Amino acid sequence: MPNRYAVMGNPIAHSLSPEIHRLFAKQTRRNLTYDKLQVDPLSFEQEVQAFFHKGGLGLNITLPFKERAFAISDDLSARARLAGAVNTLSFHGGRICGDNTDGIGLLRDLGRFVSLSGKDIALIGAGGAARGVIGSLLTQTPKRIVVANRSIAKARALQIAFPEIEALSLDMLREGYDVIINATSSSTLGEVLVLPASLLKTKPFCYDLAYLQTGETAFVALAHSFGCDAVDGLGMLVEQAAEAFFIWHGVRPETPLVREYLRRDLF
Ligand code: NDP
Repeated sequence: MPNRYAVMGNPIAHSLSPEIHRLFAKQTRRNLTYDKLQVDPLSFEQEVQAFFHKGGLGLNITLPFKERAFAISDDLSARARLAGAVNTLSFHGGRICGDNTDGIGLLRDLGRFVSLSGKDIALIGAGGAARGVIGSLLTQTPKRIVVANRSIAKARALQIAFPEIEALSLDMLREGYDVIINATSSSTLGEVLVLPASLLKTKPFCYDLAYLQTGETAFVALAHSFGCDAVDGLGMLVEQAAEAFFIWHGVRPETPLVREYLRRDLF
């Protein structure tokens, strides 16, 4: 019988994880199944336990359950502890092991375009994704990381967890950053992200964690309109999945082919 894996979330219909893991499995000749499981928020913990006790080997966890996956993990990786959230669960010797691959996924994709060492970075947004990637960004020895959020209280809460960062509200952002990372859900929600006009004038490199199945995200389009180089988060999605695949199977799949396939054929 093939080994069983899945992604749990709510909603989950949009998830590309089954397609990505199917491609990784084909590439590395693994016999596995990978399902999408829409989970009722009232029964998330029971569903996770049932999945593992019926022989499931690994779960990816997406919105809105990453903090609850953190809470039910018996063992946590260092990066999951830093992130305060878990997107990858494994089952070893009856224990649930939680990890977070979002930060390394972002670094691997962003690293194709820009080095972060010595750079001035603005991270926009202070939700789960922002928190999940700050620890990884700090490992790259940037000059400075400023976290700017619509509600400054959330940015300040992140500053308590990561004292190395600075916290601002969006309207306090000014020009001069080398790299701007959009970790708000504005692009995904189809909302306008209102930023000070000067911010993009000096043409920082722009990265949007969000991605769309067709066309540019609103943030990527805005950055392009100012002449900035800008990319969306599809590459991060593939890289965080590759790290989860490595955790479960001990083999690192080739990501460029999968990324190109998703861009060219799937969308
Ligand atoms: P959360 O709901 O936890 O946080 C949302 C954040 O976006 C908050 O900081 C919120 O600000 C801000 N925000 C939402 N709408 C607006 C707006 N119109 N203007 C300004 N700020 C806004 O979401 P996550 O952190 O989990 O996810 C953020 C994004 O990252 C999503 O688009 C998600 O799809 C993407 N993501 C991509 C991944 C990938 O692999 N590519 C992995 C993980 C996430 P406030 O606090 O003021 O409400």
